Amino acid sequence: MEGKMSAKAGAGGGGKAGKMMRAFVMHGIGSAGFMEKPAPEEPGGNGAIVKTTRALVCTSDTHTLAGAIGERKDLTLGHEAVGIVYKLGREVKGVKEGDRVAVNAITPCYKCENCLRGYTSQCTEMLGGWKFANIKDGVFAEYFAVNDAEANLARIPDQVKDEAAVYTCDMMSTGFMGAEHANIPIGGSVAIFAQGPVGLMATVGARLLGAGLVIAVEAVEKRQELARHFGADVVVDFQKKDAVEEILALTGGEGVDSSIEALGAEPSFEWCVRATRPGGTISNVGYHGDGEFVRIPRLAWGVGMGDKTIRTGLCPGGKERMKRLLRLLEMGRVDPTPLTTHTFKFEEMDKGFEMMKTKADGMIKPLIVF
Ligand SMILES: [Zn+2]
Ligand SMILES: [Zn+2]
Repeated sequence: MEGKMSAKAGAGGGGKAGKMMRAFVMHGIGSAGFMEKPAPEEPGGNGAIVKTTRALVCTSDTHTLAGAIGERKDLTLGHEAVGIVYKLGREVKGVKEGDRVAVNAITPCYKCENCLRGYTSQCTEMLGGWKFANIKDGVFAEYFAVNDAEANLARIPDQVKDEAAVYTCDMMSTGFMGAEHANIPIGGSVAIFAQGPVGLMATVGARLLGAGLVIAVEAVEKRQELARHFGADVVVDFQKKDAVEEILALTGGEGVDSSIEALGAEPSFEWCVRATRPGGTISNVGYHGDGEFVRIPRLAWGVGMGDKTIRTGLCPGGKERMKRLLRLLEMGRVDPTPLTTHTFKFEEMDKGFEMMKTKADGMIKPLIVF
């Protein structure tokens, strides 16, 4: 568009060796490290190139490295990052070069059939909205390229710091989706299984949506503390007590209106079904990475007739979603930064990544500073 022309966006460059950048990549299954790569230079008509300022390591990055999505060769890892617009495609409106932006982990095209049907995280195919560090280079690099930028770049309000905004990219969007899908009635009861970063954000989401009783199920002490900090009324330690019995006791034997599975394990999924009352909703956000089936306890499911809804979903992306999440930060409704237990410079992110595999030293989220 006119007025958007800039010298650096000129066509030039033919034949000249491009700029190189540092990236943290998956060389192959089980092998990660730094490498030099050509920096993305050409955003394309609808794309953008963002200069990274802050990123977060996700447990899914460690799953990817372990082979969860198959073999990848020198693929840049990472899908949670904010930065500054470095170059913008000619057709992108609504943002300008130099703007501070957040980009969701999920970057749908907003054109395909599934997107048009409203299921943008399933862009093109099931789970196809997930492109960073899956089908294209991720964000653990000095620059990253964003597809369909007009729909996927959200300007960060001036008052919101990068280290808070970066939580909108996955943790807040996924955790809040867990609560939204759980169909929590105002004043209703909800149990959230596991209080990792997504589970903790589901706890916040349940409070924001008006839950009357928020029960967090978690055994790790530091996470129990954070659960209380983020709004859990009761924390049930499933290693000391039977979580389902405890939830039934807390709800007068009825069970909760809603439960949220934020771990991705068969036992916790089963507990969700058992702990939810007839007519209630089980909202799954956990990644079920093992086994061929996830079993449903037949009797607790009302032999298939208990009016218990099971909902699934993948982190909602797109700038409209991001604008709302950023507004919560701007207005001080939520402060996700207590999730940051460790901070690393980009040059030492290999250490942070290694620790994330085992959650060493009580790690919840490591923030990467560029
Ligand atoms: Zn993530
Ligand atoms: Zn699409």
